[in-house]
Amino acid sequence: MPNSSGPSAQDFAQFMASLPRSEIDRVNALNRAEAETQHKAFSEAFKAGKCSFCGGALTSFDASKPCRHWLLKPEGVRKEHIEKLATQLSWGNLENYVRWVANEEAFAQNINDLADEGTGKLLELTVKYENIAWSFSCSDTDLAGHEGGGDHSKVPHWHFQMYVDNKPFVRYNDYHLPLSTEDAGILELMRANPGKVHRRIAGGTGMNEVLHESMLEHVITKGRSGEDEKEVDRAPFKLDTIVVAEPGTTMRGDDIHNLIQAARAEGVTATSKLRELKNVSVHTMVSAGPGVVHQAPRSKRKKRRERGAEKHERARAEQQKRDS
Ligand SMILES: [Zn+2]
Ligand SMILES: [Zn+2]
Repeated sequence: MPNSSGPSAQDFAQFMASLPRSEIDRVNALNRAEAETQHKAFSEAFKAGKCSFCGGALTSFDASKPCRHWLLKPEGVRKEHIEKLATQLSWGNLENYVRWVANEEAFAQNINDLADEGTGKLLELTVKYENIAWSFSCSDTDLAGHEGGGDHSKVPHWHFQMYVDNKPFVRYNDYHLPLSTEDAGILELMRANPGKVHRRIAGGTGMNEVLHESMLEHVITKGRSGEDEKEVDRAPFKLDTIVVAEPGTTMRGDDIHNLIQAARAEGVTATSKLRELKNVSVHTMVSAGPGVVHQAPRSKRKKRRERGAEKHERARAEQQKRDS
């Protein structure tokens, strides 16, 4: 059990919080460089059908050698194998891996880690690749340990779900997976500093990072309109634009129509074109488009013993919303 000895999650979180900014930046840069190297090796191997971690084929399976590529469900992998792997590697390594896999298919849109599409848990995201969807979940009560799942649920743990061909292969409530001390520490840091801890994963960019404020201008100026219905259905973003005429002026519908046509012809976003209008203000809302994978909600059905804790948690989430 990873948490039975060594520093506790609280120790780790306190240690992280106590580091000076310069030290955090230095460690982050080192980690990032290492992650980038690893990601490069992963991506090259993946494109060749190979696993950079074990050196085997992505379709290979040896029950005695647990490896991240089991998450791709090679022939022979069963539920208990996933439990073994997830127990050994904890949440962080597995999330990192499936993010890399997802981005091999399409950039960011297969990774829905948007907080406002979740239910307020510390950790909730769904990642997709081809016919497989993986979901990760950890609430305050999971991190603290709760009753209702034997000894495994009483220690800091997380929940995992895996769907293959839209059918459940692993369900959230199948196991209570132990968190490594480091992973528990990161979640503890997130719990103690709501909204302040940002995780950036080299090669694993998801929608949360893409829809970050600092990226919006890039989406508007560098994005392009969907050419046909099919492309619109797969779009990673949705831009809603409101054009308001300044007081005392009027807008011509024809001007707007012409600019939208021009945007389509030039392959740029309508929003970027509408900014050419004189005497108007242009407001744009950028949100996740129809091409973004949906988050798989964790079932609300709970054992009676767990229900009290859940209610408490939800009340806290609402409180936070009111405060902000
Ligand atoms: Zn492997
Ligand atoms: Zn739990």
